[in-house]
Amino acid sequence: MSNDQELRQFVSMWEELTSDKIIRRGGQANPTCQLCRTENESPNHKVADCSFSKMVWLILAQKLNLQMLNQNKTSTRIKEWWTAMNGQGDDTRRTQLVIYAVWDIWKERCRRVFDNKAQTPAQVASIIQQDIFLYDMAQGNVHVNI
Ligand SMILES: [Zn+2]
Repeated sequence: MSNDQELRQFVSMWEELTSDKIIRRGGQANPTCQLCRTENESPNHKVADCSFSKMVWLILAQKLNLQMLNQNKTSTRIKEWWTAMNGQGDDTRRTQLVIYAVWDIWKERCRRVFDNKAQTPAQVASIIQQDIFLYDMAQGNVHVNI
């Protein structure tokens, strides 16, 4: 799958999954982001501008020595954010990391909304690393000596 296809799929999925969209369609949702509990939830906010998500990206950037993941700027468009996170090149490994991170940030949001449970940014960052490790093991990319 090319970076462009991934981007289009990501943007369309991500834009559907926010309370502002649900409310605009006449549904009921809490407009406040459940990750930081201070700003309204929007596609950009959830993944790029939320203080909780920024902490997760910062921890990942430090753990993995990938400074690119620490985008400490406000993004106006999700596409710009995605490009900044993934770079112009075709780094499948980094794209995989960004997708897992977005997915686990989304799961944390749902955990708070539906289960009334919350984890810290450090815990979410650990889950992201575990998920990637498990994926690698399932793919046979990690060899564990027993
Ligand atoms: Zn937030």
